[in-house]
Amino acid sequence: MKNNYPAIELITTANVPEGLHLLSRGKIDAFVGHLAVVMDAIRKSGFNLRIAGKTEYVFEHRMGFPPEHANTVAIINKVFKEISPEEHNRIYNKWIRIKMDRTDYSLAWKVLAATGILIFIIAFWNRKLSTEKKRIQQLVNDLNTLKIKLEEKNHALNRLAVTDQLTGLYNRLKLDETFQYEVDRSEKYGHSFGIILMDIDFFKEINDTYGHQTGDRILVSLSDLILANTRKTDIIGRWGGEEFLIICPEIDESGIKKLAEKLQGVIASFDFPEIQKTTASFGVTLYRKNDDIQSLMKRADEALYTAKKSGRNKVVLS
Ligand code: GH3
Ligand code: MG
Ligand code: MG
Repeated sequence: MKNNYPAIELITTANVPEGLHLLSRGKIDAFVGHLAVVMDAIRKSGFNLRIAGKTEYVFEHRMGFPPEHANTVAIINKVFKEISPEEHNRIYNKWIRIKMDRTDYSLAWKVLAATGILIFIIAFWNRKLSTEKKRIQQLVNDLNTLKIKLEEKNHALNRLAVTDQLTGLYNRLKLDETFQYEVDRSEKYGHSFGIILMDIDFFKEINDTYGHQTGDRILVSLSDLILANTRKTDIIGRWGGEEFLIICPEIDESGIKKLAEKLQGVIASFDFPEIQKTTASFGVTLYRKNDDIQSLMKRADEALYTAKKSGRNKVVLS
């Protein structure tokens, strides 16, 4: 062993029991000895030791006798010959019961393999889940973007539904709605509100002289002028052809009169492209108790009529 395995640190013990003793105390890693002797010594020692394996070394046993016992050789040989194989086995097994410590690692391997597979499956599912999560998150984001776009479109559509196409002001639909809302509000809470009905003077002449398209452009310019010279809270719409309605919440008589006169002045002094000058007449009225849309409009109409009758480019409050 010294020659064949120089890397192994070998120590020699006085006898087998001493070797086994060192082994049982963990002082040495292995004890090498004759199988039958070691087994017998283990049995006698009571140490919990096991035969771990075979070396490649073989002990060959020989018996020697002094010459005067030459006969004994013959007798012993004869005895050996007469031992049947079964008997031989029996004797052998009596003394040498090899029970090598062959730890069964197969279960450990199985557990290890199962654990590995489990870890792999968990990792795989985690990956799959995280990809799925990302996919769902993307879907949610896309849906949100769609929702925002839809809301924008809806908003645009709603705006379109209440907008006069030519001037961009509110149309009749929105005016009617706001009108009713303000009437209800005034009725319930006593809010004051008023309306200005504005009609362009001699607009037919503008059309006749400069053409319908010029007339359209004048209507747009006028709308911009009205927008620029009213309050943010006023609702301005095209009531019909060349008539505009301005609904003014939270206003009193002098306030609404001033507002109408301001518009009248701004329009009269404005230099319109192509036609230079035009004017407008205004019928103005404030909400009174028990008013409804019809009664309010009737008064505004009458005031406008009076303004027209008395020379146009005028504000009449009724
Ligand atoms: P008055 O001072 O009495 O209001 O005279 P007017 O000519 O303005 O009144 P009238 O009601 O006789 O004529 C209104 C004209 O407005 C007739 C119509 O051709 C014109 N008009 C109505 N809507 C539009 C429009 O959308 N575009 C154009 N270019 N003209 C329009
Ligand atoms: Mg008119
Ligand atoms: Mg007119």
